[in-house]
Amino acid sequence: MQETLEKLQELIDNSKYIVALSGAGISTSAGIPDFRGEKGIYSLGLYDPYRTFDINYFKEDPSYFFRFAREFLKIYEGVKPTKGHMFLAELEKKGKLKVVITQNIDGLHQMAGSKNVIELHGSFRSGRCLSCGKVYDFEWMRKTLLETDDLYCNCGGVVKPDVVFFGEPVIGIDEAQRHSVMADLFLVLGSSLTVQPASILPYLTSGRVVIINKGDCAFPEERAEIILNDDIDSVVERLKW
Ligand SMILES: [Zn+2]
Repeated sequence: MQETLEKLQELIDNSKYIVALSGAGISTSAGIPDFRGEKGIYSLGLYDPYRTFDINYFKEDPSYFFRFAREFLKIYEGVKPTKGHMFLAELEKKGKLKVVITQNIDGLHQMAGSKNVIELHGSFRSGRCLSCGKVYDFEWMRKTLLETDDLYCNCGGVVKPDVVFFGEPVIGIDEAQRHSVMADLFLVLGSSLTVQPASILPYLTSGRVVIINKGDCAFPEERAEIILNDDIDSVVERLKW
């Protein structure tokens, strides 16, 4: 383990264009469950993820999603970024890391201080009316959801948080691909690389690939420089940054 960490440290020290891809595993120690995965949804109270994030179903009846969103907001109260988030923000500040590409919708990278973040699946930080396009911020959505149980615009239209649903295109994939190609070090943090199109990104880089993920990862071992099946916080704690 020590040897692997030293090797990882050396890779980070020698890299100039680090790209990080983060998944649910970077936020679980902050108390945010992997709610797009079925296991996480169940732990929240038996939400069917396909129904929760189905755009057609939402347009027909948004109440199921709003019920889920309220539970998510309760979990979200007082949540703080993890050491993994802080680590990436610090690498960006030092000019080593160019972008964080995330599959998460929790906004914790920005909360940790990361500036260049591509949120492939969107986030709760904003929302918009499906009828007139009016944009709403997180605070309005939080307050309104908790007070009235749903989100309606002045015009009567439904307000949908800017989270990517099944059946909607992901956000920023072209930019994510461009960065991935440029990377000299590609860090995968807390993703099992099973959800497309994020899962293809580490294949695009000619740089080294390092995976830190507790659990299985669908990436060929021989293509990765380092694979650490370990807790992200405990790994970054042992690095200098
Ligand atoms: Zn409206």
